[in-house]
Amino acid sequence: MERFDTIVIGGGPAGLIAAGRAAEVGERVLLVEKNDSLGEKLLLAGKRRCNLTNAESDMRTFLSRYGENGRFLHGAFSRFGPRETLGFFNRHGIPTKTERGNRIFPDLPPAASTQGAQKVLDCLLMYCKKGNVRILRKSAVKTVKIKNGRVERVVTNIEELAADRYILATGGKSYPKTGSTGDGYRFAAQAGHAIIEPTPAIVPVKTHETWVKLARNFNLRNVRLTVTVNGQKVDERFGEMEFTNFGVSGPIVMDLSAFVSDWMKQGTVNLTLDLKPAMNMPTLLSRIERDFEKYKDREFGRALTDLLPSALIPLVLNLSDIPEDKPVAYVSSEEQEDLAQLLKNISLTVNGLWSFDHAIVTKGGVCLKEVDPATLRSKLCENLYFAGEILDLNGPTGGFNLQICWSTGYVAGEGIRLKSVVN
Ligand SMILES: Cc1cc2nc3c(=O)[nH]c(=O)nc-3n(C[C@H](O)[C@H](O)[C@H](O)COP(=O)(O)OP(=O)(O)OC[C@H]3O[C@@H](n4cnc5c(N)ncnc54)[C@H](O)[C@@H]3O)c2cc1C
Repeated sequence: MERFDTIVIGGGPAGLIAAGRAAEVGERVLLVEKNDSLGEKLLLAGKRRCNLTNAESDMRTFLSRYGENGRFLHGAFSRFGPRETLGFFNRHGIPTKTERGNRIFPDLPPAASTQGAQKVLDCLLMYCKKGNVRILRKSAVKTVKIKNGRVERVVTNIEELAADRYILATGGKSYPKTGSTGDGYRFAAQAGHAIIEPTPAIVPVKTHETWVKLARNFNLRNVRLTVTVNGQKVDERFGEMEFTNFGVSGPIVMDLSAFVSDWMKQGTVNLTLDLKPAMNMPTLLSRIERDFEKYKDREFGRALTDLLPSALIPLVLNLSDIPEDKPVAYVSSEEQEDLAQLLKNISLTVNGLWSFDHAIVTKGGVCLKEVDPATLRSKLCENLYFAGEILDLNGPTGGFNLQICWSTGYVAGEGIRLKSVVN
């Protein structure tokens, strides 16, 4: 059996940077990937443009985007944080640019922008190649053999492989068609690790209401969404969202979706959508009055054209008690008030989340208490390390999730014996 210093399991962004870094600091590295090709999920990132990281410059604010578990990342970020990540990619031939929401992408001409993810993957493959990382494709690890608190070897569908240390970078359970089928949780559990229940995150939310489909795929801008659990407000977001066939989606919904499973365990989760957050009730009421005066010869169904985008009107008509064909001149002031209330308080009841098939990331994973944040080494199994989405870490959209991979992968790649190595 050929021996290696390090075996990296999983050839996504975390595994690739870990393998490259381990090789760079002098290790003989084997990377084992079950797919035919590497980085399948990475190639989808940012609609193939690859939102590499985020330009938020304050470390505390950056870490706060990961919730309570963000503290765990402090050590890895201090060694290889967003700034070092940008330096790494810039040095390796990927210039970057910052866009709306501080999102950082490879800087490519507009016509080539969707090649961003491929460029990032090529850069990582080159990094591995430079370090003579040996790559086994179509090799699925089936089990890890543990002896005396150490990984002794791993068994793939083809052979047994052994090394001094092992880095688990098998990803989570989201988008399983890319290869991330949660295998690594089983291997971590074999090594004694607790797994925090994986749930889909950055994923559309399902609602009881079926009328949502009346405005499906229409992008609502500048709306406010308030979340309550058993009537108590727990969250509020402002920005863009959309209705779908089964519920709601879009940036503000996707970003709060990580919390939905926990909220549903506590009770009934309601969403209240304010279509006109910039107007208070009196302002909205006088706006409605003005519009109805202007369109006093029309029926109600045709009097909303100035107030609402046309794609939204069928949905509002469906929810309003005012008959569509009622002449506007006969719409009472109470009815106008009800309409204003409706526009500021469209109520939805959350039914669940779409499945892992549609989730951008996984919430949950290897329990952080059992991993050393400074080295990413297991506290239970001395030659086992973790990197990337397999860990109980997840952030919102905006480049925060790939940053987990770059930081934890790079640091795990260096390994504990190599802590004195500098860039
Ligand atoms: C559509 C989409 C768009 C995204 N866009 C962005 C974005 O723009 N910015 C951002 O920050 N994040 C984005 N993400 C999230 C980001 O892609 C993930 O966080 C990241 O890919 C996780 O990397 P990873 O290396 O930990 O795991 P993965 O990328 O899941 O890679 C794990 C690898 O391990 C392999 N593997 C699994 N089990 C085994 C086994 N038993 N044996 C051998 N190999 C195995 C898999 O085949 C896979 O290649 C996006 C995700 C999706 C789905």
